[in-house]
Amino acid sequence: MIKRRKTKTIEVGPVKIGSCAPIVIQSMTKVPTVDITRCVKQINRLVQAGCKLVRIAVPTRADTAAFAKIVQKVNVPLIADVHFSPDRAIEAIEAGAAKIRLNPGNIKKRKDILRIIDAARMHKTAIRIGVNEASIRDLKKQPVPLQERTALMLREMKKYVRLFENRNFTQLVLSAKSSDPSRTIEINRAIAKTFDYPIHLGLTHAGLPEDAQIPSAITLGTLLAEGIGDTIRVSAAGDPVEETKMAKEILIALGLHEPSTPELIVCPTCARAEIDVVKLARQVKKTMSTIDKPVRVAVMGCVVNGPGEAADADLAICAAKNKAFIYRSGRKISVVPENKIISALMRELQNLLG
Ligand code: SF4
Repeated sequence: MIKRRKTKTIEVGPVKIGSCAPIVIQSMTKVPTVDITRCVKQINRLVQAGCKLVRIAVPTRADTAAFAKIVQKVNVPLIADVHFSPDRAIEAIEAGAAKIRLNPGNIKKRKDILRIIDAARMHKTAIRIGVNEASIRDLKKQPVPLQERTALMLREMKKYVRLFENRNFTQLVLSAKSSDPSRTIEINRAIAKTFDYPIHLGLTHAGLPEDAQIPSAITLGTLLAEGIGDTIRVSAAGDPVEETKMAKEILIALGLHEPSTPELIVCPTCARAEIDVVKLARQVKKTMSTIDKPVRVAVMGCVVNGPGEAADADLAICAAKNKAFIYRSGRKISVVPENKIISALMRELQNLLG
């Protein structure tokens, strides 16, 4: 059982972020913000996939104007992603952003950061303050050696948090980003030790979905297993719904999110397999694709380990020569010939789901 790190609770519209609340999945739109129709459509798909917060980039005045309209059309709190421009930050806050993402390091003037803080306080907007490894430079504005980066990122974060707290603003979520899994883990551990604000976890520039999956799962999974992380985003090039699915899978694997769809367990197969396990598993997966309940089904290639594994599944198929045994909650309920396995499974699934 994972013990979450104790943090403050931050309100992002109706969504709470922090140790008293479930870990929040978020993602980002990837269509032009000014294309309001497509943006709203993508937001709705993300919500359907499991996002509780959606972030939108607002690089121009036209984007913040579109943001104001999008806020009115969706049922999810929106985060405005701001870089470089204090005006965009304030426009987004006034447009109804529930939270803004800000890297104070790229807002040049201190008085502009203070203006943003004051606007956020007035509109009850939370702020995620971020430090990016790529933007860390030493006092001579030179790139910093790898082994010194965590200390420097932490120092930057301390400086920003002090600035916000001195302005009496504590509706903060902290994030430190790197594209390197080890340094992401290291800096987030350091931030978790130093502050009691919720942490946004992500591995930045992780790659194409197929390349991002394992590094993201390792990085986020390691931190989450240590109780670190209160909102997560998996970053991958491509459809953000895929990011959301990956984020959900990471949380489900750690027992931090209830599964809402069927889970298929398949033995890896070996020389004992009595049947084409992969072919059968693919057929079973297709059969289960229309089910939206968290039922657990196991497909096992033989009766050596099959019954043991079947005990943890709602339904299990254990193959034997030209036939299969069907188990329900670990109890053998029928024996069917190989060509009747799928129809028997369908029948049992219907019985199980009522
Ligand atoms: S269930 Fe049987 S076939 Fe599958 S991996 Fe285990 S021993 Fe091999």
